[in-house]
Amino acid sequence: MKQAHGECFFFKRFSPGWLSDLPPNHRVVSPCWFLVKRPAMIPSTVRRVIKTPSNPSKLFLPSYPSQLYPPSHRSVQHLAFPIPIHPRNRQPNSLSSVRMVHLSSIQDKSDVGDKRTQEVKDTHAKLAPDDADAFTTSVYGSHFAAADLPKQEMPENEMPKEVAYRMIKDDLSLDGNPMLNLASFVSTYMEEEAEKLMTEAFPKNFIDYEEYPQSAEIQNRCVSMIGRLFHAPSGADHSAGAVGTSTVGSSEAIMLAVLAMKRRWKNKRQAENKPTDRPNIIMNSAVQVCWEKAARYFEVEERYVNCTADRYVIDPKEAVDLIDENTIGICAILGTTYTGQYEDVKAVNDLLVEKNLDVPIHVDAASGGFVAPFVCPDLVWDFRLEKVVSINTSGHKYGLVYPGVGWAIWRSAEYLPQELVFNINYLGADQASFTLNFSKGASQVIGQYYQLIRLGKHGYRAIMSNLTRTADYLSDALQALGFIIMSEKSGKGLPLVAFRLPPAKDGEERHYDEFELAHAIRIRGWVVPAYTMAPNTQNLKMMRVVVREDFSRNRCDDLINDIKMTMDLLQKMDKDSIKKQTEMLHKHHVAGGGKVSKNHPKYKAEKHSLQGKHGKTHAVC
Ligand SMILES: *Cc1c(COP(=O)(O)O)cnc(C)c1O
Repeated sequence: MKQAHGECFFFKRFSPGWLSDLPPNHRVVSPCWFLVKRPAMIPSTVRRVIKTPSNPSKLFLPSYPSQLYPPSHRSVQHLAFPIPIHPRNRQPNSLSSVRMVHLSSIQDKSDVGDKRTQEVKDTHAKLAPDDADAFTTSVYGSHFAAADLPKQEMPENEMPKEVAYRMIKDDLSLDGNPMLNLASFVSTYMEEEAEKLMTEAFPKNFIDYEEYPQSAEIQNRCVSMIGRLFHAPSGADHSAGAVGTSTVGSSEAIMLAVLAMKRRWKNKRQAENKPTDRPNIIMNSAVQVCWEKAARYFEVEERYVNCTADRYVIDPKEAVDLIDENTIGICAILGTTYTGQYEDVKAVNDLLVEKNLDVPIHVDAASGGFVAPFVCPDLVWDFRLEKVVSINTSGHKYGLVYPGVGWAIWRSAEYLPQELVFNINYLGADQASFTLNFSKGASQVIGQYYQLIRLGKHGYRAIMSNLTRTADYLSDALQALGFIIMSEKSGKGLPLVAFRLPPAKDGEERHYDEFELAHAIRIRGWVVPAYTMAPNTQNLKMMRVVVREDFSRNRCDDLINDIKMTMDLLQKMDKDSIKKQTEMLHKHHVAGGGKVSKNHPKYKAEKHSLQGKHGKTHAVC
């Protein structure tokens, strides 16, 4: 920690609290402590560095609280090198901007200190740790517990593993509680035995078929079971039967399906000597955002069948009327993200057959794939329909596995052009592979196999039936509270409840909307999201509760009570206080504790997607 540097020593350890009296608009570029007898002993090279444009002739030597410092160190000068922050690098803390959480921009070091108020900084300075604290075996007695976690620059030195574990765990404690997150379809519960199996498989790279042939075999068993659930043809020889693969989620499965449809269309057009430069795909404007991505990434024109103020599913006739010679396929959704309704795949299929059109259907059964076969086995939506050529489903939604697994199944190899499939030769063994990325963990596939054989059809049916009953119960209760219900009941759609506030009665005023209600319910920890529906629905706002495996009846009652209490509270508040409360909650929950938005300015106001163009919310799912 201690290094000789000319005539002075400096310690790498540094306490940010000591820099409370930096001049405004300056930041520390290379903080450290110098032990010097007199400032003149500082080497001239260092002196040059610490000259500042605003203060060119002087060294910047902030004072330190000497009373906290051991008497023998009285001659210590505590130095920092301040440099001005360029105004361009100062980021506005914009609440209204969309926060891009995953594609994050690299932060300037100067942004770190921003969240601390001056009072907090002063207190920190007084309490800066003494060197006497340097040795301790307790996590919270260590100097790590007294310092901020490293945030921008990788730290120079190690920290003990117990400390790293505890500090990160504590940092994450401000995340929401997954069980109270009613926004997401993605599994938040698995049995311990499943978790154990999955943990044990962490070191296995799924792509190493040769090394882990059993994991590959387990995937094939899952493909077979799921394919049969969807009535996939199982030809005696390989050429006739269905084919499928595990994916990271439905998004990857949908990307692959779009690629397959596009290539098959292209091959056909080329064989006919026709142009292949303008492919298009037909889908509902309420599609999940991954369809927009797939179309954009693979350069396929998006043709939307718009929802209306009272129809949120695809209109089969309108969809088929949009077909032309460049149409690579139609997407039908088994369980839309917004209202959970099943689109009428059979009607689309029958129109195609009737008109003798060679256009395939892909069914996006991300959520419905593991619900409909158990709750309404008579609904004909899958490979029983001749025009359905491929289906995706999310293993991590109602497939009941933790995030990271999806499935794509094709009716037969005919619909998966050979040019897209690569043979991975790993240590001499060939395995056909159709995926977007190469390496991935084997755990999720193994978790899926566990659920399939542990629960069996009876187990899935029991769970999905309970969820359907809970959704019906919640739907009735919300209706009794005055809400308008937009989702189906009795298993005619996914087990979710989509609802909105009724229009205000004559002479009455309601000074809050769905978004404000959604924010206020967060006070109790529940995440019940509000959305703006797909375009052409007159900016219809709605809320949605996804009934997941761990949302049992008792917790449903708690939620209903909390919604009622929250509405009573909002009713008693005035418009202005509601607005302030919403902003505060938004800042805390959505913008990550009021920290500076990490969304890069370049990506802030995109205007290309349905969200950017029409204000439709890309729903969480
Ligand atoms: C969730 C969802 C997707 C995306 O699936 P992931 O598994 O999250 O990648 C696509 N379509 C629909 C209808 C969905 O509900």
